[in-house]
Parts: sequence; C-alpha cells; structure tokens
Amino acid sequence: MASPVVTRFAPSPTGFLHIGGARTALFNWLYARGRGGKFLLRIEDTDRARSTPEATQAILDGMAWLGLDHDGEAVSQFARAERHREVAHQLLAEGHAYKCFSTQDEIETFRDTARSEGRSTLFRSPWREATPDQHPGDSAYVIRIKAPREGVTVIRDVVQGDITIRNDQLDDMVLLRGDGTPVYMLAVAVDDHDMGVTHVIRGDDHLNNAARQMLIYQAMGWPLPTYAHIPLIHGPDGKKLSKRHGALGVEEYHKMGYPAAGMRNYLARLGWSHGDDEFFSDAQAVEWFDITGIGKSPARLDFKKLENL
Ligand code: GLU
Repeated sequence: MASPVVTRFAPSPTGFLHIGGARTALFNWLYARGRGGKFLLRIEDTDRARSTPEATQAILDGMAWLGLDHDGEAVSQFARAERHREVAHQLLAEGHAYKCFSTQDEIETFRDTARSEGRSTLFRSPWREATPDQHPGDSAYVIRIKAPREGVTVIRDVVQGDITIRNDQLDDMVLLRGDGTPVYMLAVAVDDHDMGVTHVIRGDDHLNNAARQMLIYQAMGWPLPTYAHIPLIHGPDGKKLSKRHGALGVEEYHKMGYPAAGMRNYLARLGWSHGDDEFFSDAQAVEWFDITGIGKSPARLDFKKLENL
C-alpha cells in the first residue's frame, strides 16, 4: 500500500510571503488535502543573519489569510542542527563521508591549476581515501560526502521528467563546516526524511539541489521522495518575476481587501489548469489538483486578472 501523502512548505524567513511562495504553499496544501494526507510547515531559518521573526510572522499571516492550514507545529530548521550533525557523523562513521583538511588556499590552488590545464575545476580532495592515522592531529577540517564518481544520478521529476546528471560532475559537497555547522543541503534532506515527506513540491530553482539532496538520501539508505519542481512565475513581460513587477507580497493584496478565495483561485491557476475551467471552488480545486497537471513552462502573472479578483 502506498504511504499516505506528506507534503511540506519550507520557506526561508527572509522577507514577506511573495506570490511564488504562496503558490508553492498552495500546491502542497491542495495535494495533501486532496489525498487525505498531511501538509507540514518548516521554517528554514538556518541563515541567522537574514532570518527574522517578522518574516516568519508575515509568512504565517499570509498562509492564515489564504486558509492554508498546516498540520502540527511549524518546525524550526535551526533548532534541529544537532540532528543534522548526527547524520553527518553517521555518514562519516559508515564511510559515506570523510574529514577533509584542505585549506581554502589549497582549494584555490587546486582550482587555479585545473583551470590553467583546462581540466574541470571541481575540487577533488586528497583526503577522500585517507585513513585516520594519516590525519593531521587537531587541524581544522570539514566533513564532505563521498559522492559517487561513476554512473549517473537521475532525478525523476513529475513535472520536469527525468533529469540525468553525470556523477563525475558532482563534487564531494561539504556537510559540516569547519565550525561544525551543518550546510543547508544536509538540513533539507534530513528534515524532509525525518518529517516523513513523501512529495517535495517546490520551485525549479531547487532542481540542482535535488541531486545533492538525493546523494544524502542514498548514502543513508532512505527511500527517495517524489519530486515535482514547478517552473518559476514570470512577469507579464515573460521575464523572471522581480520587485519591479509591483507589490508581490500576498500581505499587500490582503491589506487592499482582495478576497482570499479569489486569490487562491488565481494562484492555483498559475502553472496548473483544469481543462477550460477558469474559476473553481476550493472543494473542486482540492479534488482536481494533481502534480501531474503542472505545466512545464513558466506561468505568467496577469495583473489585470489579479486586479479583477
Ligand atoms: N527554503 C527554500 C526557499 O525558501 C525552499 C527549500 C525547499 O523547498 O526545499 O526557497
């Protein structure tokens, strides 16, 4: 029997809830609600310099306004750093990761040499196969994953199709920095696994990250989630959405008195359609929504439609 659907919305609290984020949240919510599953919220607050409580509140307010209720408590990613470290150390103990003592200068020299010799500048650490007795005493080190060098990694994406990446193009990414802090990529993979996320539905700006997150899943022997990377929203001019396209925080629309139901309907149709239906009720959206119906080309914002909600 297939496991129950668990989706999540994982915003970084560095600003307001913008149209793109709200649509990602809505798609995750619709998918979970239509399948009797769970919709979880994780606040990705590991970037301490850029994360603010105000932004977290703005995201919570925006979601509440749109009626996107999440199951259980919101999870703080930063609060789980100890667990992220534990996984890095497990990978180390099991031989899927290694301590790398290369200094920043050595890495730069490696890259300079590779560049001048016309080779790939992907850093290849000399410590990958080193045994503990070869390690220099108490020098600073980072923990790197031992990424496969042969074969391919295939991201099976419901929206994008199969994306094949040659493993010799993957680097041994850092899992734990010299100061022991976990990198973002590790945090996301561990949290998604621990939270039981079955479907990762997010912007396609995260597609590259999927391959790296998959390496962590595979090294840990965890079953992979289903991926659905949604094309980003473009402005009416077909260019990537930016601030110059106007007020894009959903709070702005809230304050201007836009109806939440109209906004939900509008957001649902950004990149997903159901036949010729222009308007549908929440119940219909929940019933009809499917990640297989998400389009492969970027949706365009149509301010006229938005204004007429
Ligand atoms: N925190 C990321 C963002 O706000 C999303 C990460 C993810 O969905 O995996 O763009």
